[in-house]
Amino acid sequence: MSKPLLESRDLRKTYRLGRIDVPVLKGCTMHVDHGEFLAVLGSSGSGKSTLLHILGGLDRPDQNGGEVLHNGAPLASCSERQLNSYRARTVGFVFQFYHLLPELTVLENAALPGFVPGGIGGDAATQQAKTLLDRFGLSHRLNHRPRELSGGERQRTAIARAMVNGPEVLLADEPTGNLDEHTGGEILDLLSEAHRDGLTIVMVTHDQLIADRADRAILLADGVLAAANPI
Ligand code: ADP
Ligand code: MG
Repeated sequence: MSKPLLESRDLRKTYRLGRIDVPVLKGCTMHVDHGEFLAVLGSSGSGKSTLLHILGGLDRPDQNGGEVLHNGAPLASCSERQLNSYRARTVGFVFQFYHLLPELTVLENAALPGFVPGGIGGDAATQQAKTLLDRFGLSHRLNHRPRELSGGERQRTAIARAMVNGPEVLLADEPTGNLDEHTGGEILDLLSEAHRDGLTIVMVTHDQLIADRADRAILLADGVLAAANPI
């Protein structure tokens, strides 16, 4: 049997506020299989973003605070160069508030990860960004700035950006959290389609109905993960 694409073992993360330790993740163990669409359900402040950032190599667990494995290999034993490649090529991030750069056009925003160390390169990324933006119905928006777009169009641009380097897994942090229900539904349709085309997705949300769109949901509460059973 092949190893999970991603795995976390007993992850612990504590924030220090002044002299007070605030434990957020208290031993999170989970796995993400190749090709699955996994939802992590949890209330606001439960640590969903913290977990996603650690899975994506954007943050680290506490010292001796467990580990993240990619295809069975611990991230902690990666060199800085390997970690850059992991962040650029293995994972793609989608955020609630899009995080597009206002001075860049839609096409430039979507192509941007191609230019970072470990990315697929600017020319390939620009081609790939055009293909994705076209698929997402934004071919008439390539030269617009983010401020000229609706929320749904901004998030579609951000999803194109997350996919431009051809990631193995999309890590989506409340991707519909800032959108009305209809527009959010369209974004979920787009993610479902990418999943049907083979992309592995981990999406965190506080909304059971949104989590129901995934193949499987796990619940983050009191710093630990448990199976979430559909109602
Ligand atoms: P969620 O995404 O589920 O809303 P977060 O992972 O953002 O939860 O945050 C979990 C808890 O950790 C919250 O109480 C939050 O205030 C706290 N927290 C998050 N990031 C930091 C940080 N950089 N420093 C201190 N506390 C933080
Ligand atoms: Mg969050």
